[in-house]
Amino acid sequence: MSAADRAVVELSAVTQRYGDVVALDAADLVIRRGELLAIVGPSGSGKSTLLNIMGTLSRPTAGTVRVDGHDVGRLSDREVSALRAGTIGFVFQQFHLAPGVPALDSVADGLLYSGTPRGTRRRLAERALRRVGLGHRLRHEPHQLSGGEKQRVALARAVLGDPLLLLADEPTGALDSRSGAAVLGLLHELHGAGTTVVVITHDRDIAASLPREVRLRDGRIEHDTGRAVTRGAALAVEAGR
Ligand code: ADP
Ligand code: MG
Repeated sequence: MSAADRAVVELSAVTQRYGDVVALDAADLVIRRGELLAIVGPSGSGKSTLLNIMGTLSRPTAGTVRVDGHDVGRLSDREVSALRAGTIGFVFQQFHLAPGVPALDSVADGLLYSGTPRGTRRRLAERALRRVGLGHRLRHEPHQLSGGEKQRVALARAVLGDPLLLLADEPTGALDSRSGAAVLGLLHELHGAGTTVVVITHDRDIAASLPREVRLRDGRIEHDTGRAVTRGAALAVEAGR
């Protein structure tokens, strides 16, 4: 097995332009299975652009994106959707829960297009909500939940299909520090259970508490505390160790 086989995400010279703006400038990044890392950088430095590209939500202007070994640029939109649905879960700063929909249904609907029968979807959704500590809020609608609870519903929905990769864009950005800490704790738990987790954060303490930190500035990766580790692992694999 080569190091590349074990990569969940592999970006090579990925560039994203919006007109004159270079949102991402020839970024190289390898994320291996089981990693937990922070992506940090000032506002406008390209963090969300990077996350959306590794999440296959957008295709870059140039460069190669591999997700779980698949070259995304060679896949049709339909194939990319299937890859995304089977591999990646998302959490965003704004929770994206439909108004008026009870938590259980919000979560169960995450598997709406997977062909899973309704009863099974609901059973899985209930289990996921219990996992994030919301077993007592199954019938609550978004307006009846606190921000922290809403984010936990969003997390339950994101992990319902047991994704290989969880991408979180400022997941604690709209939360008070206590709710933020609870959400971060859940991300650690999911990581402990084997999920690869990528967290965009403005919070220096959160970033510093994670095993790897990738720093962006003006669309460039200016620092990556995991790069040496990644290289070392690749060399060890090449050497057959
Ligand atoms: P961050 O998440 O670090 O705040 P973004 O990735 O959202 O940064 O944006 C990086 C740069 O790209 C910014 O200058 C932003 O204005 C620009 N940008 C992002 N998305 C678009 C878009 N859809 N159209 C035009 N410019 C965009
Ligand atoms: Mg952003």
